Amino acid sequence: MSNPVMDEHQNDGGSDGGNRRDGTGPGINPSSMDVFEFMRLGRLAQGRVGLGRFLRLMQDLPEQPAGEQGEVSWEAQGERGARGEQLLRLRIQAAPRVTCQRCLGAFAWPVDAEVLLQPVLNEAELDQDLPQEEEDVDADLPERVLGSRRFDLLAQIEDELILSIPYVPRHPVCPDGRGGDDAEDAPAPKRPSPFGVLAQLQRKDPADE
Ligand SMILES: [Zn+2]
Repeated sequence: MSNPVMDEHQNDGGSDGGNRRDGTGPGINPSSMDVFEFMRLGRLAQGRVGLGRFLRLMQDLPEQPAGEQGEVSWEAQGERGARGEQLLRLRIQAAPRVTCQRCLGAFAWPVDAEVLLQPVLNEAELDQDLPQEEEDVDADLPERVLGSRRFDLLAQIEDELILSIPYVPRHPVCPDGRGGDDAEDAPAPKRPSPFGVLAQLQRKDPADE
């Protein structure tokens, strides 16, 4: 087991790719990367992207602020799982503006999500069922996605953003005071990884329901 090759790569202003050489190879293009090579080398990449470019996400959101406030910052790292499987850990941080469904005011919804992806070679691997006991025991099970030598990391980032924003966003307390003592409306930041649960639900749902 050798140390992973670290490749610190910073994108500025949401531009794709970059060609800085630091001895470990050129930076990645996050919309078309060789994810298998990236994981094999245990590489690390990070960057920032304007939220406005995520069209699926933006369908349900108001206009986003310019500059850093309107960006998502991401970091991807190639890892190995307990059984030697190649994994991609993706972290995203952003504060997209959402529309409160109670008062219709816009406010920033902080997103700080981490997901462990398992890019696989083909559709057959994607659909392979996991042993039931593994699903029960390990909540941090990687989420299988279709890998590629032209993997669109930005599409994954968009998926995670969409999952991280509630369908019905609401201020904990609206500026007009509504919602203040309604426990149902309160966000639950302490719950263990609601994001992971959502991701698993999403993965299973289309076939079942
Ligand atoms: Zn509100």
